[in-house]
Amino acid sequence: MSNQESSAPLKASNFISQIIKDDLDSGKHPSIVTRFPPEPNGYLHVGHAKSICVNFGLAEEFGGQCNLRFDDTNPSKEEQEYVDAIKEDVQWLGFNWSGDVRYASDYFDQFYAWAQHLVREGNAYVCDLSAEEASEYRGWATEPGKDSPYRNRPVDESLELLQGMKQGEFEEGSRVLRAKIDMTSPNMNLRDPILYRIRKQSHHQTGDKWCIYPSYDFAHGQEDAIEGVTHSICTLEFADHRPLYEWFLQNLPVPSAPNQYEFGRLNLNYTVTSKRKLKQLVDDKVVEGWDDPRMPTISGMRRRGFSAQAIRNFCNGLPVSKSDGVVDIAQLEFSIRDDLDKNAPRAMCVLNPVKLVITNFDEHVDGGRQLVIAPAHPKKDMGERQLPFTPELYIDRADFSEDTTLSRKKFKRLVLGEYVRLRSAYVIRAEEAIKDDEGNLVEIRATLVPGTVGENPPEGMKPRGVIHWVSASEGKPATVRIYDRLFNHEAPDKGESDFMQYLNPESLQVLENCWVEPGLADIEPESCFQFEREGYFAADRKEFSKENLVFNKAIGLRDTWSKGGK
Ligand code: ATP
Ligand code: MG
Repeated sequence: MSNQESSAPLKASNFISQIIKDDLDSGKHPSIVTRFPPEPNGYLHVGHAKSICVNFGLAEEFGGQCNLRFDDTNPSKEEQEYVDAIKEDVQWLGFNWSGDVRYASDYFDQFYAWAQHLVREGNAYVCDLSAEEASEYRGWATEPGKDSPYRNRPVDESLELLQGMKQGEFEEGSRVLRAKIDMTSPNMNLRDPILYRIRKQSHHQTGDKWCIYPSYDFAHGQEDAIEGVTHSICTLEFADHRPLYEWFLQNLPVPSAPNQYEFGRLNLNYTVTSKRKLKQLVDDKVVEGWDDPRMPTISGMRRRGFSAQAIRNFCNGLPVSKSDGVVDIAQLEFSIRDDLDKNAPRAMCVLNPVKLVITNFDEHVDGGRQLVIAPAHPKKDMGERQLPFTPELYIDRADFSEDTTLSRKKFKRLVLGEYVRLRSAYVIRAEEAIKDDEGNLVEIRATLVPGTVGENPPEGMKPRGVIHWVSASEGKPATVRIYDRLFNHEAPDKGESDFMQYLNPESLQVLENCWVEPGLADIEPESCFQFEREGYFAADRKEFSKENLVFNKAIGLRDTWSKGGK
């Protein structure tokens, strides 16, 4: 990222940055290389954002480089769509990877040569056990495994079979290449792990060139070594793989010696962050797609109206620790709200409109309309808006009551027979509530108090509060989508039931009949606003156009969830 000053620095106490600092000070490395290594089997989520901020952030902090490398060793679950989305998300977050995008598959020829090397050195063999048999031979965490009967097959035979595997001569699952390490190791990962599997599948990068694919373990450290990665940072579940990571580096003629470090995954309450589960939400059409604004994906958060800066601030504010923890989603929401409060211009939108007619308009305003001026932002100089004030307006139904006994403290809105200020415009008085045959409110008649634009009303005339409004003749119709949490359980995938049981049936509410101030027809998709008194909203990235104003609610004005409301 070029504008470093705009992103909060990683916590100085971060143990990985201390290791890097020591490595640079001692001269172990003249400069550092990190990498972010997603598997293109889904869209990136908020947990990945954390990993991106750590990896790119450390490279930035120490003047090193960070690679973007796709760990594309399993073609059955990977797709080009995911590759493209991941690149876009990383860039949108504000990071630039060093050089070209890299792919594990760029190195498949090298991996194959290294596999042959291991066989020649007596460190790997082709094993013909079925998956079921192999798992029996593997033993348990508490019980040592047994050597495969193929473990000591002659080197030449393994070399020949490996070549046959590569040439597609054998069925999927009939054979694998395994490292020869230790079937009695207490670390299951060292019990002759699989290096290559037969998979007769096309690959999004290599097409049909390969029908054997390396395992994650056989690929990852070698990719790091080829790229000169100095600090290979991953999440805690890989700690048990580290001895294997190191075993390959020791037993292969690799060009450099990376080190692996692990930190705790980011988990958020009320959220699932597993690509498999997020994919299920997409496949089952519970959400509109990976970028549905309710999804914790980077593209979903983006579409919802969260800024890259706010997401980075959130990630960088979390500790990089050696244990997994659960972060309260309110913390993410705080970062979003804080950023939007500072940066989103203000606008008015009536979500649930009722017409308000100013009966004395023509007595006080010439030409049927008056432009009133409102600042785009109360604290920042973001210019001004000109709002047409006309005889017919919309206000929100919830801002009007006929109940004159309501206390002034509790109901700071419009009450029949009383005064209220229309934001940036006149003080008005509600004179009459017009009903239809069924008694539903259809219109409010009101009078304006002349001379009250930007001025206090005469002594003794006390408006209850300030409400927002939109001109009925010049405002624009809009659709507004209100989101709530996708799950109504704090730990949806840790509960007793399947996580799908905890879906919040009210996570999406579509309001088709909203009115916005006219200037909002001229904005760009993805622009964010504070709709005064309602919350923060973003013009939908995909659907918003001048003719079709669609807004997504990013977040409310304050945290109401923790207080038990919505
Ligand atoms: P998932 O479980 O969502 O499928 P993954 O770990 O399989 O995630 P990868 O594409 O392999 O997904 O992840 C790329 C990088 O992002 C890895 O280094 C991984 O450790 C890191 N990462 C993934 N999830 C999180 C998380 N929740 N918090 C921090 N880092 C994460
Ligand atoms: Mg993974």
